[in-house]
Amino acid sequence: MSFNEGARIDTSNVEHRSGGGGGRGPMMAGGGGLVGLIVLLIALFTGVDLSGLTTGTTPATNPNEQVAQVAQCETGADANTNVDCRVAATANSAEVFWKQTYNGSKEAFRPAKTVIYESQTQSACGTASNQVGPFYCPLDEKIYIDTSFFNILEKQFGSSTGALAQEYVVAHEYGHHIQNLYGVLGYAQQDPKGAKSGGVRVELMADCFAGMWAAHAESTPSSNGEPFLKKLTEQDIKDALSAAEAVGDDRIQEKTTGRVSPENFTHGSAAQRQNWFMTGMKANSPQQCDTFATDSL
Ligand SMILES: [Zn+2]
Repeated sequence: MSFNEGARIDTSNVEHRSGGGGGRGPMMAGGGGLVGLIVLLIALFTGVDLSGLTTGTTPATNPNEQVAQVAQCETGADANTNVDCRVAATANSAEVFWKQTYNGSKEAFRPAKTVIYESQTQSACGTASNQVGPFYCPLDEKIYIDTSFFNILEKQFGSSTGALAQEYVVAHEYGHHIQNLYGVLGYAQQDPKGAKSGGVRVELMADCFAGMWAAHAESTPSSNGEPFLKKLTEQDIKDALSAAEAVGDDRIQEKTTGRVSPENFTHGSAAQRQNWFMTGMKANSPQQCDTFATDSL
């Protein structure tokens, strides 16, 4: 119940795709080399290895896929009751927040698009599915998310089921878009693995940006002036931290391999991800999220 019921949700930068699952189209697009580079760069949310995508070609869009706007999402009340609307509302609130906060000199702010899909769809960075989890693709500047991922987050990763746990995921991906605008996203690609790698620093910065969004969304006005989020409760913050913890590299490694190997970290430990989210909650400027400026991650 984190959104103000009366907040207006602008869904013009959100699309919904359905019916794209299964089957590969007859047209195969080439360019595996470029896709290969980008796949490392996007350093997706769940830490799943995307390398399988790097060698093949990208299947063409499934001709049966339906693309629509999420027009049924109009208010914060919709966001509180419908998970697609929650994703759309979070992306909209992140856009408005970052439009007023982004202070990069490289180029002007431009919003990311968010694609809510069912089962499978194509991005400019390869096939999106819950096997790879939610991600941001810098080539088309879109966030890809199948909202059934939240069930995986809860059941397989052990995150809480609270709304802010889900919103944290979207805000984290939006953070990668902001990093793309700042020109720092590429550091994840140059140095993807290890406890102090560019990959880990990029991911922790995205967690910090998610924390900034969370702390400011209650004072960020939607298009009718009503702020997007209600004042965060202790439980909301616990929910977000629970998600950040659940996707920590050490937690995932323990589950999948039975041991923790920091040399293979790509996103940071559970404690680091929580700490940087909290750092973001207290930050007034994106510079306070500069994970490249410190040695103590
Ligand atoms: Zn990420």
